[in-house]
Amino acid sequence: MQEIKRAAVIGAGVMGSGIAAHFANAGIPVILLDIPQSGFGKKNALAEGAIEKMLKADPAPFMLKKNADLITPGNTEGDLEKLKDVDWIVEAVVEKLEIKQDLYAKLEKIKKKDAVVSSNTSTIPLAKLLEGRTKEFQSTFMITHFFNPPRYMRLLEVVKGPETREDVYQAITHFADFNLGKGVVETHDTPGFIANRIGVYWLQTALVESLKTDLSVEEVDALFGKPMGIPKMGVFGLLDLVGLDLIPLIGGIMKASLPKDDPYCLGYEEPELLKKMISEGYTGRKGKGGFYRLAESNGKKVKESINLKTGEYSASKKAFLASLNTGKNDLKKLLSFGDKGGDFAWKVLSKVLTYAASLVPEIADDIVAIDTAMRLGYNWKMGPFEILDKIGPSWFREKLQSERISIPSLLEKVGEGTFYKIQDNKVHYLTTKGIYQPIARKAGELFLSDIKLASKPVAKNSSASLWDIGDGVACLEFHTKMNALDPEIMKMIQKSIEIVQKDYKALVVYNEASHFSAGANIGLALFVANLALWNLLEDIVKEGQSTYQSLKKAPFPVVGAPSGMALGGGCEILLHCDAIQAHAESYIGLVEVGVGLIPAWGGCKEMLSRWVNNSKRPGGSMVAVGKVFELIGTAHVNKSAFEAKENLYLRSNDEITMNRDRLLFDAKQKALKLVPNYKAPEDESFSLPGSVARVAMSMAVKGFVKIGKASPYDEVVAKKLANILSGGDTDITDDQTSEHILKLEREAFMELLKNPKTLARMEHILETGKPLRN
Ligand code: NAD
Repeated sequence: MQEIKRAAVIGAGVMGSGIAAHFANAGIPVILLDIPQSGFGKKNALAEGAIEKMLKADPAPFMLKKNADLITPGNTEGDLEKLKDVDWIVEAVVEKLEIKQDLYAKLEKIKKKDAVVSSNTSTIPLAKLLEGRTKEFQSTFMITHFFNPPRYMRLLEVVKGPETREDVYQAITHFADFNLGKGVVETHDTPGFIANRIGVYWLQTALVESLKTDLSVEEVDALFGKPMGIPKMGVFGLLDLVGLDLIPLIGGIMKASLPKDDPYCLGYEEPELLKKMISEGYTGRKGKGGFYRLAESNGKKVKESINLKTGEYSASKKAFLASLNTGKNDLKKLLSFGDKGGDFAWKVLSKVLTYAASLVPEIADDIVAIDTAMRLGYNWKMGPFEILDKIGPSWFREKLQSERISIPSLLEKVGEGTFYKIQDNKVHYLTTKGIYQPIARKAGELFLSDIKLASKPVAKNSSASLWDIGDGVACLEFHTKMNALDPEIMKMIQKSIEIVQKDYKALVVYNEASHFSAGANIGLALFVANLALWNLLEDIVKEGQSTYQSLKKAPFPVVGAPSGMALGGGCEILLHCDAIQAHAESYIGLVEVGVGLIPAWGGCKEMLSRWVNNSKRPGGSMVAVGKVFELIGTAHVNKSAFEAKENLYLRSNDEITMNRDRLLFDAKQKALKLVPNYKAPEDESFSLPGSVARVAMSMAVKGFVKIGKASPYDEVVAKKLANILSGGDTDITDDQTSEHILKLEREAFMELLKNPKTLARMEHILETGKPLRN
């Protein structure tokens, strides 16, 4: 089987267009076909329209807008022939068996011998899809089930048929893993595969059970959110997102495909309330609203929720239940609390967990596949077996027994133990045979969580730790809330520099939280500012600058490996690394102006270095300074690592890893590559345009204030930024040192920090999470 170099997607609906966009994100040219439309020049309207729509969508399906150029739109009447050269054809047309079968019959005649055809079907068994196809077609066919939205949802469920060639399976799963960044989970050919089999059952059970209680929509959602580690939109928020009209449709298909005695079919109901809501156009977010809706009151948007008993809407109220209060951090307490919230939580969760335990090995070989699928496909923090371990499998079993519920055999096999346990410093899971086996890691995957199980930190304080990740490489991990940077982290960076210099070859800065770092700890800065301890604050700024400078000048390579947000000070540490290995889903930006400040830990200096001292970027130094001014002045956050590279937050030798699970391994390899003959970067000098640029930038901001695009205080902050970036009192003939720029950063920062409007911005963001435009 050859490499996947060209792809095609048929069906340009929600899924097909998103899958095509993600192929483009992986740098693969892709043909996107849908049914031809009538009218001159309109034949490709569906595929073209889908691309147009994606270019405007938020969250963006494209990691870079220009990736859209890699998609060639077409139609299934005139363009099927074009598929003869592609290596992988993904079918994502409507969920109708005849339409899919008809398409495969056509593809069989056109595709090249080795080209793979895969279906994105959610419910139709592979055997049915392949009825009437030749053995040869069957050997290159499989199911690849992406989740919505395809760029962001990490799960890819794959099913191979009895005839699927092993090399075909390997080529597709390898591409999906490395190039598309997917967590590939092999599932059995059963309705709904893993995630939807359990997820749809959970939604259905929660909906039906909640209608039997007098709980509010908010209370139901809150019960699932924090205590169970399910995204806080809960059940009703998710139903609104999916679309209420799809619920009976999906439910109907699942009911028709599963045996009559399956718990899903036994508990299936189509609630009257749901029917009424759909018939009145309350189909969720895409319609007039759903269980939640936005209503207008006195010109303001107000969130409302439906009363599950009466069907009337009223202003949404925060959930309050005694069980929630007691059990929000202790699920077992919640489940045994005994009020209506606790009873409901137990009723739904006990059914879902029992169902999940009864489905191994029917839907997957092991519990790891099931937990992974629920984490990556439904964004649960824990899969069903991880939840069971949290509450105690034997406690759960006894409670089921006391309610005379029959116990799935896997729940018997776990005995007094847990489904996962640490043995020989490795995580082991319980197999269906009742024995423990280590979780297999793929070649090229490296997890700090594994290293942490098997070793002790080389150094540690309350905010950060240094780990030995093997082969002479150390890893610096932050572990504060949101990985906010504080003086303890600075101390640990300094300590790491000393230790790595002595005992290691290289350093990787990495962690496994959702976000690399949300930036400096604003709460701490605000606290000190409110006490007017200006000297202390200036020391914190100086300390940050000198720490990052020392990291840059350290006599060993430092590789930054971000994933998720890397903002403010979190972005600045990356800017001081020798190289970056970034997860594609890294959102890097200098956002300080949002809180009335400017980057002062060397962020301005490093962006000038990348733009002004860069012979490859277009335009003269005025243009370069202007671009840095725009990026920092608008608190620009790059929506992918690729965009960060375009905007020079990453440099040309920095690399991007698509799969989160491969990030640490790749970063370590990158660091090791830099070790031979490593020399720390030399001091830089900057020729900056001085007052000419400062005046030009200040005038531009004035213009924005005039047309209401910037606030008067934005102008104050922007002027300070303009002064730093233009080099202060200098002109292009004067060379400035890094120290000079750092001094300008410090001065501006301290002046802004003393302004009550900056403090108001800081306070506001801490309280609401949103920026204040004062
Ligand atoms: P959709 O209705 O948004 O899009 C389906 C597209 O297929 C439409 O653009 C339609 O014009 C096109 N189409 C219909 N017949 C065609 C034909 N003969 N040739 C070419 N195109 C044709 O549907 P969707 O949600 O994108 O679902 C597509 C597939 O993905 C289905 O099999 C569905 O079960 C599966 N799926 C959907 C989701 C989801 O969340 N929507 C998730 C996973 C899998």
